[in-house]
Amino acid sequence: RVAYVNGRYVPHREARVHVEDRGYQFADAVYEVIGVVNGRFLDEEPHLDRLDRSLKELRIAWPIARGALKLVLRETVRRNRVRNGLVYFQVSRGVARRDFGFPKRVRPSLVVTARATPPVSADPGPGVAVITVPDIRWKRVDIKTTGLLGGALGKQKAREQGAYEAWQVDNDGLVTEGTSSNAWIVTSAGELVTRPIGHEILAGITRQTVKKVAADLQLAVVERPFSVAEALAAREAFMTSATSFVTPIVRIDGKPVGDGRPGDVARRLRAEYLRAVSVAEPF
Ligand code: PLP
Repeated sequence: RVAYVNGRYVPHREARVHVEDRGYQFADAVYEVIGVVNGRFLDEEPHLDRLDRSLKELRIAWPIARGALKLVLRETVRRNRVRNGLVYFQVSRGVARRDFGFPKRVRPSLVVTARATPPVSADPGPGVAVITVPDIRWKRVDIKTTGLLGGALGKQKAREQGAYEAWQVDNDGLVTEGTSSNAWIVTSAGELVTRPIGHEILAGITRQTVKKVAADLQLAVVERPFSVAEALAAREAFMTSATSFVTPIVRIDGKPVGDGRPGDVARRLRAEYLRAVSVAEPF
């Protein structure tokens, strides 16, 4: 495997950043993950737009021009022979003597890696279980920073309980989002419900694309927060992310959602989403 680090392609096991990189010391860094399916990048431009927003929020400069970054992403995917998988890229503020305030003269660090995953199927399989945990993250999770410890603790708890994801719950008992995914339910009235964009969730690119796909399928999408109780009473639940696409959720805290099997809406959205990004098997 090969990684790109600040202008060089190096063997993955030798890829290094400096110990005084602010990404390492302060999580003063932002990142993106783009899915690669059949050699295609999914929603590349929206991901780069979100990177631009994250960088602006933290006043970090682009490490290289957008067009150059696109070439580096392609080259990293090519050198790693990834046809199905993901490309990860991270920009930190750079290397400077440790001090909380921003350094005066600093060059941002850019790291790019790519990894293969098994080919994606339109069939969602049996669906996944989630647990619920308090949302202990900081108050600006709309910025896609590498400060992910809150989510990491939630994900680890989920794994220890045999679940795939943890839904994080705010102080009002409302679900914000998964640790690395956006959260959705389908009500008994057939409405798709997901939390509106704000500082409390990441504006998922898959969430955005699935909203469009739902509109094409003439499904109603309502953006409002929902509670765990409402999710348990819902007909269906599902999650969206660049690497899970649309994945049905069949259990929440050990209790079944609907009949405990993937629902029709999630199935259709997954198939249509993959078709919209031109990758599904014919169906
Ligand atoms: N929410 C969080 C906290 C995430 O980390 C992610 C992605 O990793 C998402 C939502 C889904 O975003 P996207 O669809 O852009 O992958």
